[in-house]
Amino acid sequence: MKEKPKHVQMDQFSVKNNCVQIGGTPLTQLAQQVGQTPFYAYDRRLIKERAASLRNAFSEDIHLHYAIKANPMPAIVQLMSALVDGFDVASAGEMKIALDTEMPHKHISFAGPGKTDKELKQAIAAEIVINMESETEMVRIATLAEQICLVPKVAIRVNPDFELKASGMKMSGGPKQFGVDAERVPAMIKKLAELPIQFYGFHIFSGSQNLSAESIIDAHNKTFELAGQLTEYAPTPPKLLNIGGGLGIPYFPGDTRIDLQPISENLKQLLPTVKQNLPEAEIVMELGRFLVGEAGVYVCRVIDKKISRGETYLITDGGLHHHLAASGNFGQVIRKNYPVVIGNKINGNKKIVNVVGPLCTPLDILANKMELTEADVGDLIVVFQSGAYGYTASPERFLSHPSAMEILT
Ligand SMILES: *Cc1c(COP(=O)(O)O)cnc(C)c1O
Repeated sequence: MKEKPKHVQMDQFSVKNNCVQIGGTPLTQLAQQVGQTPFYAYDRRLIKERAASLRNAFSEDIHLHYAIKANPMPAIVQLMSALVDGFDVASAGEMKIALDTEMPHKHISFAGPGKTDKELKQAIAAEIVINMESETEMVRIATLAEQICLVPKVAIRVNPDFELKASGMKMSGGPKQFGVDAERVPAMIKKLAELPIQFYGFHIFSGSQNLSAESIIDAHNKTFELAGQLTEYAPTPPKLLNIGGGLGIPYFPGDTRIDLQPISENLKQLLPTVKQNLPEAEIVMELGRFLVGEAGVYVCRVIDKKISRGETYLITDGGLHHHLAASGNFGQVIRKNYPVVIGNKINGNKKIVNVVGPLCTPLDILANKMELTEADVGDLIVVFQSGAYGYTASPERFLSHPSAMEILT
């Protein structure tokens, strides 16, 4: 007997009259309102709830930042400016979106390898915190700062000597293009003390998309330990310790939502020592995916249906050019289906089908041999868990199809 493929259950969106509701509106009506498919829709209530649940779970000593690259839609960043304590930007483009909000500049930080002189000058002039990724970047910042006659706040992004276990995307441990190797930091700080820049703290980011509370706890323990050690070399007490994020969301069968409680308990136990070792430091957790990922859907329409040697193909007006991650080509090693439904036909006879996009490449798959309600031309395909690393993480210009619309509802 063939085992039925299981879906991740997306319970954050309700179903009424056999139709998914997004932001309290039936999907079919929302599609009319948007005026086109494909589109991304983000539910503001879900974003607010997620931010509130983090506030509830963690002590007020843990400040929350939003990593804008997860979803830089200006309306979302505006909404977020009232929900979090700061922003992390990774380019001058993201910096502009952040500066257009009410977020105080000193609560915006700029990370990323390969910042140009132009971007660094903009960041210095905007008086945001710069997370330095190398010794040479530090020297460039100092030179530029002298030209503009400002003293920028700089933090050192540390490439720790440990890895975040069970993480979807490993970003530390071993040689990396991110940050300064932990063992090089003492010498860098010594040099920093002689430059016309203000040492502000450390940024220790060890990974992304982690669903294991245990490995996040492990990373937090090691992060605080490392921060304590590095602080002994600091010219002035760190004002900032950014411990990264790493909290993941469920995408695939078998994934479950992360339990914040044990993570919060562990942080509570660590805080007294942290306050002793880094008495002046604001502790920041920076999150992207966890804040917005579950609040977004990608919606496209079936424009053709065909059978090829026994398999059914639903061909849509949307695909990997708008949603690379759902096609399985954004960092996945083995392709798995994102949670997908026929949004206007939740219940009904099920069939194993393939959902593909309009691009002339076999990579353009939204669902591979997935059990979905029987669908026809005109029906709406919904890809859940699409609020983060969706539209802006996709090669939109590939094959020159029309753009998608984005709405915050
Ligand atoms: C991408 C990134 C984040 C956000 O990661 P998520 O997995 O989306 O939470 C945070 N900090 C830095 C430095 C990043 O590059």
